[in-house]
Amino acid sequence: MTAAAGSFYDPVNGDFEAVDGEPLPIALARRLRRRRQTMVLAAASHVINIGLLALFAAAGTISGTLIAAFAICATCKVAIFAAISESGLSDRWKDHFLTGPYTAATCALMLAFIYAAPTVAVVFLCTFFIIVNVIAFRAGPQRGAIACTIMAGSVAALYLITDLPIVLPASTPLERIATLLTFAATLARIMFINIFASRLRDNLYRRSAALETAYKRIEELAEVDELTGALNRRSIMQQLDHEVSRCRQNGVACSVALIDLDLFKQINDKFGHLTGDEVLRTFAISIFANIRDADRFGRFGGEEFLLVLPDTPHDSAARMLDRLRAIIATLDWSAFSEGLTVTISVGVTTLRENETSESLLARADLALYAAKERGRNRIATA
Ligand code: GH3
Ligand code: MG
Ligand code: MG
Repeated sequence: MTAAAGSFYDPVNGDFEAVDGEPLPIALARRLRRRRQTMVLAAASHVINIGLLALFAAAGTISGTLIAAFAICATCKVAIFAAISESGLSDRWKDHFLTGPYTAATCALMLAFIYAAPTVAVVFLCTFFIIVNVIAFRAGPQRGAIACTIMAGSVAALYLITDLPIVLPASTPLERIATLLTFAATLARIMFINIFASRLRDNLYRRSAALETAYKRIEELAEVDELTGALNRRSIMQQLDHEVSRCRQNGVACSVALIDLDLFKQINDKFGHLTGDEVLRTFAISIFANIRDADRFGRFGGEEFLLVLPDTPHDSAARMLDRLRAIIATLDWSAFSEGLTVTISVGVTTLRENETSESLLARADLALYAAKERGRNRIATA
């Protein structure tokens, strides 16, 4: 799961959206599906408006021509945006949902029809509530607030610069029903949008939780310490258990060494953390270059490392570790920083009969402590 540089992960869908800026085909197909869904919902909303206008026409508030004009304009608008969406043109834009242009067109349509049919302006005015909800959910609160201000300003301007009547049709029972249904249909649509948005949020939350778990698992499964290239703690401990039981079964010696860099805190303090990291890396490379293939070397934590030496009796292990100690102590560390010297202290132990790996390690730790006590840059055995 190593994402290439510049990859975008979409936590809602759990897929990589784009690699190096190029959207993946799977992401493009999903976007198109979403846009189709949105277009169908927008068309359905217009059908509801047409139904409400038909009721007003039946009540005699408006003419049938006005419904036809609204239906034609709304259909043209949806058709144009559907064509742009289907052609894939909008995939090149950041706002591939076309939220901005689509809502602008819808607002213009509503304002035009408020002007053309002020007696049923309630139908069009209520649509603004729906548009605000869609924008807040699709474009975020900031753009939602801007759009909200523009919409409110346009409606106010329209009413202030004209003498359009502000009316709620309620003179006949059918008109009263149509007006009330306009409010009911608006509330229902707003509720629908909010349910849809909250489902999406839940989905997002679940996906990011799953993602976090997956990343943790990946970290667990990774065997190598990123900085030094040595095995990580979990892995070296597994190797230790494995080698201890193998050596015990075969009746051969198994030695371990706990290696700790001396006064490493001072190195960090004096030469900087980055030099400290470089020291850890170089130390690890020097160890790798001087151990056998069968030996296992891992970072136990911080500046402490564990070396597992299978089939190695105590004397050979002690000799080998003292050689490693001398190599580190005589390396020309001043190449990194003037005046830098690095030494290590080592605790070496060899597996006793019926001893567990925990006890073997505990003895190595005691030996390391003794090496530090005796003045560092030395090995101690237990
Ligand atoms: P001692 O000889 O007794 O071991 O002294 P010390 O200073 O080496 O031991 P101490 O435990 O006091 O400090 C260890 C230091 O190692 C502290 C910590 O910041 C540093 N360290 C641990 N991991 C890293 C690392 O990944 N990079 C760097 N630069 N420093 C690290
Ligand atoms: Mg140390
Ligand atoms: Mg330490």
